[in-house]
Amino acid sequence: MLELTNPIYLDANKAREHLESIQWPDGPGCPHCGNCDKARITKLEGKSTRPGVYKCKECRKPFTVTVGTVFERSKIPLNKWVLASHLMAASKKGISAHQLHRMLGITYKSAWFMAHRIREAMRDDKPSGPMGGEGKFVEADETYIGGKETNKHRSKRNSKNIGGMGKEIVFSLVEREGRVRSHHVPSVTAKTLRPILVAQLDAKTFLMTDDAGQYRHMKRDFAHETVNHGAGEYVRGDAHTNTVEGYFSVLKRGINGTFHHVSQQHLKRYLAESDFRYNEREALGVNDTMRAQAILEDIRGKRLTYRRTDGPHYGQAA
Ligand SMILES: [Zn+2]
Repeated sequence: MLELTNPIYLDANKAREHLESIQWPDGPGCPHCGNCDKARITKLEGKSTRPGVYKCKECRKPFTVTVGTVFERSKIPLNKWVLASHLMAASKKGISAHQLHRMLGITYKSAWFMAHRIREAMRDDKPSGPMGGEGKFVEADETYIGGKETNKHRSKRNSKNIGGMGKEIVFSLVEREGRVRSHHVPSVTAKTLRPILVAQLDAKTFLMTDDAGQYRHMKRDFAHETVNHGAGEYVRGDAHTNTVEGYFSVLKRGINGTFHHVSQQHLKRYLAESDFRYNEREALGVNDTMRAQAILEDIRGKRLTYRRTDGPHYGQAA
């Protein structure tokens, strides 16, 4: 249950103190030079200073808890960032920028930027070692994301788009009872997919795929089993891809139900959000508060690859 009356969602100072306790459990550290020596950091408390400003005696630069994070240089009060993080963490299928705009009383454009920055915080940029291992099963499969050509505005239709053409391809690896890692890939060829599998999976992993051509010859690298969907085969003992297919159905429900349209350049952030939600799931003992805290722990050191002048695109309902 989200307690909306918690002061961290209502008061910018309380939100800042909350963020400081998560980011700096052992006291403030200088984001400019890395100095963590408490004796070499002063809290500035003059009347003319805004709260939460520290000064580093090593590099002589001032800083706050948001310097170097995805919340940096935002005019949106910090309590709204903390609330938006919690709302996105607690929502099962994601939350649209329109919803954030209405719930937080900020402009749609601000809500759109905010949501993308929080997705950056959700992005797992330091994956912990290879997936799978001896006696472990990893399922790999690909799916196509993108609107139907007939639903697009006439000027945006491409008559060559049939089947998977013109759609974006998502390639996901899911360890049974474990984590997912999704990739936005340019094609479904062995040449594209094999390097991802080799880089991401422990060589002792049991790899499960369907029998599509791109997965042939994977036996060279892994213990590989396939299911023949063409012949109506879906489960043969441990040989199935039900876990990754279940993941895709949740991903698509989120994208189609909440976002309507996801542009190609931003798809990787929706994948980051969807992977985050799966990896921090209830079944693994993670509740809403823990999931929100995981976001606030991971706001630092993320590079924002879109320009601040970028706006929501035409047809961008997300
Ligand atoms: Zn410093």
